[in-house]
Amino acid sequence: MKTSALTKVNRNIGEFAASRSGRPLWQFYCECGRLTCAERVFLTVEEYGAVHDPREPVLARGHRLTPTERARRLREESERSPGRLSTRFGARENAPPEARG
Ligand SMILES: [Zn+2]
Repeated sequence: MKTSALTKVNRNIGEFAASRSGRPLWQFYCECGRLTCAERVFLTVEEYGAVHDPREPVLARGHRLTPTERARRLREESERSPGRLSTRFGARENAPPEARG
């Protein structure tokens, strides 16, 4: 399954979980992007809310984003909020010479 689809599934689970009470742990899918990854991640609604930011993927223990998935997320983020990326990643290059130390 495509990771973007998994992210949507996770969001749906998160929204569903948030509308319920009394069940502490919910099962989310690892969003590392590996095609073979079938790991589940158990989170409370609060924990999922903390990583719900699109920049913070749900990852199983020891899993890291694949370069492809990382690039896809950066691209999506830049489409969602143009300008933020350049602030975060371009700050050093764009800094005035006297600020470079
Ligand atoms: Zn994974």
